[in-house]
Amino acid sequence: MTFVRVAIDVPVHGLFDYRVEDGEVRPGQRVAAPFGVRTLVGVVVETGVEPAVAPSRVRLARRLDDIPALPPTWLELMRFCASYYQHPPGAAFCAALPAMAKSARPVSHMLWSRVALQPGYPQPAKRERTRRALIEALAAAPRFGCDLAAISPKAMDILEEWQGAGIVAEAPRAALEVGPAPPLTDEQSQAAHRIAGSLAPPRFGAYLLHGVTGSGKTEVYLDAIARVLAAGRQALVLVPEINLTPRLKTLFETRFPSSRIVMLHSSLSESERLHQWLLAHTGGADVVLGTRMAALAPLARPGLIVVDEEHDASFKQQEGMRYSARDIAVYRARLEQVPVILGSATPSLESFAHATSGRYERLRLLRRAVTDAVLPTIRLLDLTTAPQNHGVATTIWSEIALRLERGEQSLLFLNRRGYAPVLSCASCGWVSACSRCTAYLVMHRARGQTEGGTLRCHHCGHAEAVPARCPTCGNVDIRGYGQGTQRLEARLAEAYPGARVLRVDRDSTSRKGSAEALLDQVHAGEADILVGTQMLAKGHDFKNLTLVAALNVDAALLSADFRASERLFAQLTQVAGRAGRADKPGLVLIQTRQSGHPLFQALLSGDYDRFATRLLAEREAAGLPPAGYQAMLRAEARGLDAALGFLASAAEAAPPMGQGVTVYDPVPMLITRLKDVERAQLMVESPSRPHLQAFLTRWVDWLSAHAPSSVRWHVEVDPLVI
Ligand code: ADP
Ligand code: ZN
Ligand code: ZN
Repeated sequence: MTFVRVAIDVPVHGLFDYRVEDGEVRPGQRVAAPFGVRTLVGVVVETGVEPAVAPSRVRLARRLDDIPALPPTWLELMRFCASYYQHPPGAAFCAALPAMAKSARPVSHMLWSRVALQPGYPQPAKRERTRRALIEALAAAPRFGCDLAAISPKAMDILEEWQGAGIVAEAPRAALEVGPAPPLTDEQSQAAHRIAGSLAPPRFGAYLLHGVTGSGKTEVYLDAIARVLAAGRQALVLVPEINLTPRLKTLFETRFPSSRIVMLHSSLSESERLHQWLLAHTGGADVVLGTRMAALAPLARPGLIVVDEEHDASFKQQEGMRYSARDIAVYRARLEQVPVILGSATPSLESFAHATSGRYERLRLLRRAVTDAVLPTIRLLDLTTAPQNHGVATTIWSEIALRLERGEQSLLFLNRRGYAPVLSCASCGWVSACSRCTAYLVMHRARGQTEGGTLRCHHCGHAEAVPARCPTCGNVDIRGYGQGTQRLEARLAEAYPGARVLRVDRDSTSRKGSAEALLDQVHAGEADILVGTQMLAKGHDFKNLTLVAALNVDAALLSADFRASERLFAQLTQVAGRAGRADKPGLVLIQTRQSGHPLFQALLSGDYDRFATRLLAEREAAGLPPAGYQAMLRAEARGLDAALGFLASAAEAAPPMGQGVTVYDPVPMLITRLKDVERAQLMVESPSRPHLQAFLTRWVDWLSAHAPSSVRWHVEVDPLVI
């Protein structure tokens, strides 16, 4: 009999003690533990503990043996996350587990083991359908086994029987094969050489791979991954967009045909996710490719972590435990003693500052990798003087026409989906507002639809038909103001009747697999003009795209968020980088009313360093990140007064808890009402990370004890959006 401390998925800042009877228990094993009247699955974080209450009152937990113990470094990583992000430890541990691993229903080992058919295996009789299907699947995937669950619920039992009979056996690890790769450019091989220095033997090293768009950062990752795989270790590769994973997976599979590549992202089914996660955990996977959640996946033999487009905001988890997958990747690399590569054309100011201070080693790629591919020419179109048509400068219209003649593709970047951002009545001033949120209802119209449409709230999902007349004054002349991607698409189709216009945004790609299908169409040259939101800006390598036009970028320049210009610079660099990636030169047109803004000057000259150095100096002068550290306390309640009142009492209680910490006044959030809940926030700031951390720990205790039940609250450390 032994006492263990267990992380259980409940919103309480603490761990729970249990007794375990049968045999030895190790940290990292799962247990089924009684909790109140329920039984919950938890992770053992410590064994042989002195129980916090009288031993006779400690309840009995049952050890679960179906998943091997999670590794010690993983437990350490989760402990760090819980304390750094001020998250209940049980919830932190469990945030990293697939739902099916949080259930006490056993998971079969055979699901993930690498089994292979042995020579001379028998052919099942024709009527033995399941057995035949299983044999076929195993024969088709001789190296990796197959997804048994997809074949039949009985497949597991059969396989166990076969393993006993010697019909299948654990597959030997294949020798590494590396498919054909282009010879690296000088810049690439220099970068690769530096990284290789941390790979054999593996040790911690943080590399900021700062390469212009199209400079071939992926080949540098692949070079490092090849070395990692040759050493029998695993590579973890994080990317910002789910849509980027399928192409990257194919690329990795072609390059490393003997290696197993798995994907972890939010659109997997629960059983798929469990399967991929188990492969990462048990070492069946050689490369784990995924979005931010993959940063928390357990790895059996880690050798390298890559974060592609490290500046991207999607690495920040926006609910539950609000972590930065990029920051976790760096912490984890140190913990596992492996190198981490952060790649970007426009590094985050945080990473730039680390490179400047020498904590990260910066590796520059200044030229495009493909011979003859040069960076695109960028031109500003000053909307205060330039002639325009439907809000788009006439120069853009004529450049599109030129591309159509030449059979090249154009991309119009408009970060605003829907048909029109708001519907309004010209006679009484009525505007379409969401009744549940502080937001306008956006007008949507399907392709080809010229009347009516739907009003949608982009925040709560509320949808209603566009009214025939003004709900307040009855006027029939109500219109959509402004332009979203759907309206732009319609106008382009009208202006260029023969052209194939393709829109790529969250609405056109909402069905599973549809984003992939649309992107395949673009690559196959089945589109002449692309209209897209930032979804299209990231990472894609369209060979025949020679014109990029960015519309409506000014909103970001007027934002109150101090990170807005950093983000806009990155976004414009990214989208501009889609142009001219092969041997045809690219042209980028940006229309703006603020052509004098220093951001544009930096963009035109391609001088990221000067821009970043200036921003950094501004941040230092103001004590803003990365020169200072921030956390946000947010409160939600039915009434705004309740939310603000709670924050005010939290601010009042704060001073004795932290030295060197500034507590600001509570303010309503920008979108104050969301789904009928009022929201307010309160910022705390400190020039010292340890001071801020020590303060938050004490403050969160206070908040847990004093928050009224009518208020929901959370703390976000290192908030990205203010
Ligand atoms: P980045 O991620 O830096 O924007 P990519 O990795 O997408 O750039 O590479 C851009 C293009 O350059 C791709 O088409 C890639 O196949 C090609 N490429 C990369 N390295 C080389 C190389 N050494 N020789 C030839 N082509 C290369
Ligand atoms: Zn009206
Ligand atoms: Zn709403």
